[in-house]
Amino acid sequence: MTDEPDDPDGARTGEPYRVAELTWREIEAALERTSTLLVPVGATEQHGHHLPLGVDVYMPEAIGERVAERSPALLAPPIWYGVSPHHAFKPGTFTLSSETFRRYVADVCASAGRWGIENIVLLNGHYLAQDPELEIVVRELRTEHGLEAFHAPLVNLFAEVAAEIRTGDVSFHASEFETSIMLELLPELVHVDRAERVDPPEESLPLTDYDALGTNEVGWALTADDMDELTRAGNIGDPTVATAEKGEALVAAAVSKLCDLVDALEDAD
Ligand SMILES: [Zn+2]
Repeated sequence: MTDEPDDPDGARTGEPYRVAELTWREIEAALERTSTLLVPVGATEQHGHHLPLGVDVYMPEAIGERVAERSPALLAPPIWYGVSPHHAFKPGTFTLSSETFRRYVADVCASAGRWGIENIVLLNGHYLAQDPELEIVVRELRTEHGLEAFHAPLVNLFAEVAAEIRTGDVSFHASEFETSIMLELLPELVHVDRAERVDPPEESLPLTDYDALGTNEVGWALTADDMDELTRAGNIGDPTVATAEKGEALVAAAVSKLCDLVDALEDAD
């Protein structure tokens, strides 16, 4: 197979990759060329005045599309609901219990294992908050289902680039990074005119009693009451410094790392 000469990204064949749009026979054919499934995992939760509730799904799904366009991997329908109890102080937020979420994601992935998928990459757009659950899912898929499973929080994939390009001090939620990525991926859903800078008040640190050391050296978790005290708008950080150019760089970094991972997995099979 050769790359199209006019394709600067080395994109592959234009093969369809969205599992939900294929027939079972087409999946059978796709499994001749790949054994890797990308699973976007997000949450539907408040993202301030300027971003829609679906950001944490839109980001990994669009990044998954770009990876699937450049690699043989298939793209699963996304997991729309996640673990978001700390965002329940605003309407439109859905949250699952930790146990329900873990079981649901693990069952989705295990069923793909039964029809021939060997490698699972969980593209986590609701990073930090549901990292612990997805780490457990990965362990279960590996130990109980024999799958090569990976948890890829987007924030880790673009961390180096983010450190280089950031201009705001705090980008905790719905701020510089998420807004920039949405400006790159789905600008029509970003209300730039409503973006508001929210600095966490000095006296709010440490954020909870559990973080009494103030250094994240002991485990803790934000509650909806904590978030309600921290931000009226819903975001924490400065979305007004977000740009599509920053988003493009963050997305490119994530896509490139994921393509490397898929290549390595496909070569190993
Ligand atoms: Zn988010």
